[in-house]
Parts: sequence; structure tokens; C-alpha cells
Amino acid sequence: MQGKTADSDSARAAVECDVLVIGAGLVGAGFARALRSSGLRTLLLDAEVPAEPSQDGGDSRIYAISPGSKDFLDQCGAWGRIASERIACVEAMQVFGDAQGAEIIFSAYDCAIPELCYIVEGREIQQALAAANAEPGGPARLFGHSPVALALGEEGVLVDLADGRSIDARLVVGADGMNSWVREMAGMEHSVRAYGQQGVVANFETELGHESIARQWFVSGGVVALLPLPGNRVSLVWSTSDAHAARLLAHEPHDFEHEVATACRHALGAMRLVTLPRSFPLHLLRVAQTVRPRLALLGDAAHVVHPLAGQGLNLGFQDACELARVLRERGPQDDCGDHRLLRRYARARRETVAAMQWTTDGLQRLFATRAYGASWLRNTGLQFTNAIVPLKNILIEHALA
Ligand SMILES: Cc1cc2nc3c(=O)[nH]c(=O)nc-3n(C[C@H](O)[C@H](O)[C@H](O)COP(=O)(O)OP(=O)(O)OC[C@H]3O[C@@H](n4cnc5c(N)ncnc54)[C@H](O)[C@@H]3O)c2cc1C
Repeated sequence: MQGKTADSDSARAAVECDVLVIGAGLVGAGFARALRSSGLRTLLLDAEVPAEPSQDGGDSRIYAISPGSKDFLDQCGAWGRIASERIACVEAMQVFGDAQGAEIIFSAYDCAIPELCYIVEGREIQQALAAANAEPGGPARLFGHSPVALALGEEGVLVDLADGRSIDARLVVGADGMNSWVREMAGMEHSVRAYGQQGVVANFETELGHESIARQWFVSGGVVALLPLPGNRVSLVWSTSDAHAARLLAHEPHDFEHEVATACRHALGAMRLVTLPRSFPLHLLRVAQTVRPRLALLGDAAHVVHPLAGQGLNLGFQDACELARVLRERGPQDDCGDHRLLRRYARARRETVAAMQWTTDGLQRLFATRAYGASWLRNTGLQFTNAIVPLKNILIEHALA
């Protein structure tokens, strides 16, 4: 069944595997590829069929990829497949508070590293991972098929598909996003809090060059980020209230461009839209346990964080890297669905994920509130952090992972 697509006859007969990965988003696709040298027969299942590459002005779903995630994609054989002219390197990051002079600057030069992170369109990463997974030795793939029932047994896990087929696996991995079907079917305890905000995204051409600097402004009730893209282009991520997001999306292009340029204090001069603006609801999701006997959760199925630090996908790639490592390093006799093995993965990820949830949630609250004293606290906090080099270095270490 290895390396076959959904339509091949042998994939149709593929009802047995060691690891069934449900969800072929960026995290699931990366994880499936990372299992290549594990000796485990892997099946990657997704309810959707991947969209055909389009020739428009670019994907407005972009990601800040940390150096750690770049290394992971490299090991997956995906990074080298992304054309270098579609990758923008970030050499510095400027974060502005909502008071004069409240600013923090992180620079790659100060950290003695070439780049702080890389900005890449989501579809470029997805296509690179798909190409890597299609190579001989990659996972079997079954796309456009929905699972309808999941039964966790002592010896294995059985997943029924809507078309009547069943998949028999030793381990099921839920990489099926925030509304994870796997998590729901297993009845795993979790909490979701809607921020009452949307992430409004769009790409622009700008009058002035971005100089490889990512810029972020904490403005009244939200956060605006302009991330450098190749050439004189930038990508907007504006986290703002549901009501304001609806107003923004209802604007004519000219009014939208003007409001964004004003929020960004005209740092890059005039701005011209090159993609349609879109919005995504923002949530905080916490899961009590990310593993069960014969089951593990990865990526947004296991945690969702506010995008103000651009770390959700990076956390997901770290999950994928860690679970693949634990499975690769299991003893030759070990069962890949063994709870003790899976708990190693859960333990290794717990602290990092909790710290990111705590930090992004805390920052979101601090900058969303209009409470007395909060403005002083957040702006003084930025100035203070900017002045204390060891503190800045700790923040950078986390962002680079
Ligand atoms: C505005 C915004 C900006 C962001 N920017 C960044 C950033 O700069 N850097 C960063 O690191 N993170 C960022 N994030 C977070 C990032 O988008 C997510 O963390 C990441 O996309 C999660 O990937 P995933 O593969 O876990 O889930 P998803 O992308 O949700 O993929 C889930 C997959 O599972 C499939 N699926 C779902 N249900 C089923 C089912 N029942 N059966 C089979 N398949 C199923 C879906 O079709 C999909 O392919 C941002 C988020 C937002 C909202």
C-alpha cells in the first residue's frame, strides 16, 4: 500500500496498517512523512481532496516558520522543494505598543543567527509535503473519504469509513484540526474559549520596501502584523473583534487598504491589495490528555493558540517531530499503540504547549483590555523587556524552537 494515491486499486484494498493518521493538513502530512524510516506501515486519511494549485496572486494563508520547523521540513524532504523565491527571510522583528516609544526589537544580527524565521505561503508548504509523501517509501494516502466510527480495542483500533470500508490499525493519530473528529469520538476532555476575534488576512504590495522586518502593532482591541513576503509584498494578519472584522471585510478595497495603512502608521507607505481579504475565528483550545491507549493527538487537534505570536503551526510541527521520534526509537518488539510509549510523547510536549498557551493568552488579554492601568503596564512591559537583554534572549529562544 506504500506510496499509492486514493484512486489506486492497492490503496482501495488497504484496510490494515500500523499507524492511521487522520487529517492530512500541514501537521498530519509532515508527521506521516517523518515516519518514513520507522518501519511502520502508515496510512494518511483526509476527508477532503487537496485543491489544485491555482495561478492567482498568492495564498493569503501564510505562516511564520521557525528555524526549528524549517529543520523539520528539511528532514521531511519538503523544505528544498519550496522555490527560494517564494520564501521571505525575517531578519528583524519590531513590536509596537499603543503608547509613544513603547517598542521592542528583536534582531537576527544581535542573536548571531542568519534569520529569525521564514514567511511562506501555506499552499507552498502543503504542496511540498504532498510531493515528499508521494515518493517511494511514503505513506499510503486516502483522500476524500470520511471516517464515521472509531473503536479503540486492546489490540488495535478499527475505523469505519462512510463508503463501508474499515481500517484496522495499531495506532490512530488525530491530526484533524481544531474540531477534531478523533478527539470527539474518543470522548477526550477539552475546553474551548472563543476570543470573540477574527484573524483578518490579506496580501499587499507596498510603496516602501519591508527590509526583511516583520512588524507588529498592538492597537486598541487587537494586534496588526505585517509580515514580509518576497519582493515588495507583505502579508497582513489583523486580530480584531468579530464586529470590526465584519466591517473590514465589507469595505471596498480602497477603504480596506487605507484602514490597514493607518493602523500600521503608514510604515510602508501606500498599500495595494493583491489577494481578497479573508477571516478566521480565533480560539484558545486546551486538551486535558493528548494520548490514550492506541491514540495520540497532534497539532490543532491537541492545542489551539492565539496567532499573535505566529506559533500554532510551529507547535504542531514540534508535536509531529516528537511523536515520530518516540515511535522510531521504540524497541523492535514494541507496539506503536502502547500507552507507555505514547505517554513519553505527551510528557515531552506538555510544558512547551502550556507555556505557549499561557503566554499568548496573557498577551491577548493584556492588549485587549481597557482596564485602568493596563495600558501603562503593557507599554512599560515592552520598554522594560526591550532593555533587558537576557529576557529578550529567552523570548527569542522560544520563538526559534
Ligand atoms: C489568522 C491565523 C494566522 C496564523 N499564523 C500562523 C503562523 O504564522 N505560524 C504558525 O505557526 N501558526 C499560525 N497559525 C496557526 C495555524 O494555522 C494552525 O496551528 C495550523 O494550521 C494547524 O494545522 P493542523 O494540520 O493541525 O490542522 P488543520 O490545518 O486544521 O488540518 C486539519 C486537516 O484534517 C482534515 N480533517 C478534518 N476533519 C476530518 C475528518 N473528520 N476526517 C478526515 N480528515 C479531517 C482537514 O481536511 C485538514 O486537512 C495561524 C492561525 C490563524 C487563524
